[in-house]
Amino acid sequence: MQGRWRRVVRTPLGLTATVLVVAVVALAVLGPVLWGSGAGAVDTDAILARPSARHWAGTDNLGRDILLRVLVASRLSILLALLATVIAVVAGSLLGSAPFVLGRRTGRWVSAGVNIAVAFPGLLLALFFAVVFGVGATGAVLAIGLAGAPAFARLTQTLVAGVAARDYVAAARAVGIGRFRILLRHVLPNIAEPLVVNATIGAGTALLSFAGLSFLGLGVQSPSYDWGRLLYDGIGMIYVNAPAALAPGAAVLLAGLAFNLFGESVAKGLGVPVGGGLRGVGSARAGAASGPERTDQGEEAGDRSPEVVLDVRDLEVTVSGPSGPVRPVRGVSFDVRRGEAIGIVGESGSGKSMTALAVTRLLADHGRVDASRLEFLGDDLLAPDTAVRRRTLGTTLAMVFQDPMTAFNPTRRIGAQLAEVATRHQGRSRKEAMARAVDRLTAVRIPDADRRARQYPHEFSGGMRQRAMIGMGLMGAPALIVADEPTTALDVTVQQQVLDLLAAIREADDVALILISHDVTVVGEVCDRILVMYAGRIVEDLPAAELATAARHPYTRALVDAVPDMNTDPTEPLATIPGRPVDPADVPPGCAYADRCPLADARCEAEDPLLAADPAAPADSPRHRVACWQAGEPLPVRPDDRSIDDLVESP
Ligand code: SF4
Repeated sequence: MQGRWRRVVRTPLGLTATVLVVAVVALAVLGPVLWGSGAGAVDTDAILARPSARHWAGTDNLGRDILLRVLVASRLSILLALLATVIAVVAGSLLGSAPFVLGRRTGRWVSAGVNIAVAFPGLLLALFFAVVFGVGATGAVLAIGLAGAPAFARLTQTLVAGVAARDYVAAARAVGIGRFRILLRHVLPNIAEPLVVNATIGAGTALLSFAGLSFLGLGVQSPSYDWGRLLYDGIGMIYVNAPAALAPGAAVLLAGLAFNLFGESVAKGLGVPVGGGLRGVGSARAGAASGPERTDQGEEAGDRSPEVVLDVRDLEVTVSGPSGPVRPVRGVSFDVRRGEAIGIVGESGSGKSMTALAVTRLLADHGRVDASRLEFLGDDLLAPDTAVRRRTLGTTLAMVFQDPMTAFNPTRRIGAQLAEVATRHQGRSRKEAMARAVDRLTAVRIPDADRRARQYPHEFSGGMRQRAMIGMGLMGAPALIVADEPTTALDVTVQQQVLDLLAAIREADDVALILISHDVTVVGEVCDRILVMYAGRIVEDLPAAELATAARHPYTRALVDAVPDMNTDPTEPLATIPGRPVDPADVPPGCAYADRCPLADARCEAEDPLLAADPAAPADSPRHRVACWQAGEPLPVRPDDRSIDDLVESP
């Protein structure tokens, strides 16, 4: 960080701006001390004197030296501008953060109010508030501060939304930390830098606005004086003594320029932007009661196995799209039992990550979740949130994200971020929580954990960060770990270490695991069962052991077929699935895979197949479900494509 600031100062623009700002601030501090008495001295012999060697900018109607008054006025001018800036930043930050804290519905009203306020010209707002608060310095400070607040609110809103989408915020939510605390601990520290930079630029604008109000007679009143007031006095004698108006005007211009240039060069150097639910499936999916997802499981609340950790029935996710609501998850049902590892596979847009976000309650403001049942350890995840529930979930449900770079708050030490779970949910003291964090880092095989706990995320390698994220999930006693593409951002060697670690934790602590991946090889290696998703539905649910040899849905078979093996001819192009995944906003009637399926016929295009137990599945595989009218039928062999049958028959 220090290096980045040093780089800013080293540029010609940055150096000039820094020198100017330092000079302006020094003038504000020292001006009244050095020239205060001289500026106030009345000299009746030199009333309205023109510029001379004794009075460089002449004198006013009481014979006071105008240049000295301009130098002395720097303190009040800058102080008032900074006060107005502080008001704008504080009010703007509160308004801009409000939607994050208040949630989607109430937040929308706040956002709408901010948008309306931003549409008004700032000067108009300042004049309006100046009239409301009255003539004088206090009224002008409030007027300029409040007039600047909407722009800061909009900026804060954008910055908060950007940080809120980061994985470490989702991780904090997953462990049950409240919105307000997340805002204080994880969001504000990460938007402080752009806010401060924009506030610096804002100070320059406030200075100009203040001079404007004083010049109009709405700001500082006599006998006090700032640059705007001196400009107001000097403009009356501009034809006899131009420097009387030019001197305060130049001071306003130089100081405003100094703050603006400084803010702009810092923004450029640091790369900072300048700029200022869940019930009711019946109505949404009328056919659900007799739908495919229920036929195979047949488990109602009363006969649910006590071993079930997560129970999902008829899960639907609805998000807003450009042309109306879109359903990326359309009636998904599955359960996860204690110690079981479930893999969810599918192409991008199949709904696998949305399913994970819905069951971990991380969709929050980004979509609506409907289900006929969504229970974790018997707790209804669709019920209104409570502190007790947050605490329970925070210690029993862990989430591992795809990108370890974004999974931790970059401004906080790793140990402190892990310890927060223990202080928050387990009532441990800071010392005990830190000891637990070190213990958990050791458990996830991070060497020299005591020292590492005191380091920042950027000091960890990608694999270590991912292991530390798993360690964070182990701060409590997790019954379920949801890992969303946990190895995609890692190199192959580290990928295997992370997969081995997840498998070891699962075995040692009987923790259930949901592993989301687009890679069938990865899930086949780690999981007991595989759920294959396509167009927001589960199209096949089968034991991992049957994936290569007994998959029955054409899509699953195509996914397996696309994985190269030792028999793949390196001179031939790799097998691919023809066509493109279905657009969630435009799902066709009938089977969503029909356009790409070599077995598709008229029935496939007219009727959507139900996910149901496959009568042809092996007798020892009662949980094998498939949604296909022609499950298990041989696929036609295309000359440029290997088929699953070749794969199965190959030695
Ligand atoms: S239902 Fe028809 S189109 Fe869909 S996967 Fe099965 S055979 Fe293919």
